[in-house]
Amino acid sequence: MSVEATLENFPEDQPDVAAAEVAYIGAVSISELDISWKRRAACRGIDPDLFYPVKESDADDARQVCSGCPVREQCLEYALAANEKYGVWGGTSERERRRILRYRSQSQ
Ligand code: SF4
Repeated sequence: MSVEATLENFPEDQPDVAAAEVAYIGAVSISELDISWKRRAACRGIDPDLFYPVKESDADDARQVCSGCPVREQCLEYALAANEKYGVWGGTSERERRRILRYRSQSQ
């Protein structure tokens, strides 16, 4: 499923985020995650601060970079599996990743 389809197809107001995250991440060891995709990242060489905005509403510039990134899906899947709580990954904010995890947890 693409990033866009994932974001568009899950409900916004679901409870128990922490439980969903634990359920999803429990089977994955971070040390086992493939990070070879980072070599092709569109954000290479860009100031990392751009991807850690203070407010979600300030994430547009980062999202713009992500929108043309050839490894966007791999980046998002990594962030979900690694439980990255901060920053923009795969064009998604922290809140959006929590929503994805909730959706996936309930879809299993
Ligand atoms: S999707 Fe965004 S944060 Fe992820 S590697 Fe690409 S540019 Fe960087």
